[in-house]
Amino acid sequence: MKIDLSGKVALVTGASRGIGRETGIQLAKAGAKVIINYNKSKEKAGEVKDEITKSGNEAEIFQADVSNPEEVGELFAFIRDKYNKLDILVNNAGIIKDNLLLAMKLSDWDKVFDTNLRGAFLCTKQAAEMMMANHAGKIINISSIGAIRGGRGQTNYASAKGGLISFTRACAVEMAGKGIRINAVLPGMIATDMSSRSIKRAGDRILERIPANRYGNPSDIANVVVFLASDNADYITGQAISVDGGMSIS
Ligand code: NAP
Repeated sequence: MKIDLSGKVALVTGASRGIGRETGIQLAKAGAKVIINYNKSKEKAGEVKDEITKSGNEAEIFQADVSNPEEVGELFAFIRDKYNKLDILVNNAGIIKDNLLLAMKLSDWDKVFDTNLRGAFLCTKQAAEMMMANHAGKIINISSIGAIRGGRGQTNYASAKGGLISFTRACAVEMAGKGIRINAVLPGMIATDMSSRSIKRAGDRILERIPANRYGNPSDIANVVVFLASDNADYITGQAISVDGGMSIS
């Protein structure tokens, strides 16, 4: 199956590193013009843009904290000015601030919700408005199997990512008649900066819980996102798709 996204404009939030980085690169390989959003890692975002443009595709970088409404407004104003449309949004930006419930600071609860859930709300609202004008669009929310498994020290993260699945379903119902498809992808344990400490700490104990017997790569997630962003996925909406080597069913 060939996926052709030429002529499409895609925004990937949190695309300077990890899963977002690879997703931006894969969307561009499929032909999309990609906006690489980042928050703090300007240099790394620039490297992603270079990698995309070197292979003959188009990319822009744009700094915005997805939890900040003014900065999200500026990001979408840039997209409107430059492309006057948006076909694909990947709400990928995310953080963890793990701690056991009794030690969890309210500020760490709020910060995780602000980035993982409020950020997706702010970006989806702006994107949906642009997509409705063309009666078409694909939104992919990067949740986590942490939302359906629970995990020690992750009451904040699990709740925010669970909220993101519910948000996906509610949006999908509202937006289906407008030609917009919205799905969630739930990664398992993917080797990135975010998971590096857990992988180092728990090592083989985590591997034993993954039937596929390996950690995921960012490309395992990007491949599914690119499919969901394509016309091949036109009849899929409101779904929460685990991409985890079987971790969530073991
Ligand atoms: P990562 O390597 O830590 O990268 C996180 C990315 O998010 C960075 O590009 C970072 O940008 C960006 N970001 C953070 N806060 C932001 C903000 N306020 N505004 C804009 N961008 C922001 O993480 P990852 O592992 O690739 O995770 C990507 C997504 O997958 C997250 O939503 C995460 O929860 C989810 N996920 C990951 C795993 C896993 O095992 N890795 C498992 C399940 C779900 P800057 O560096 O520029 O600040």
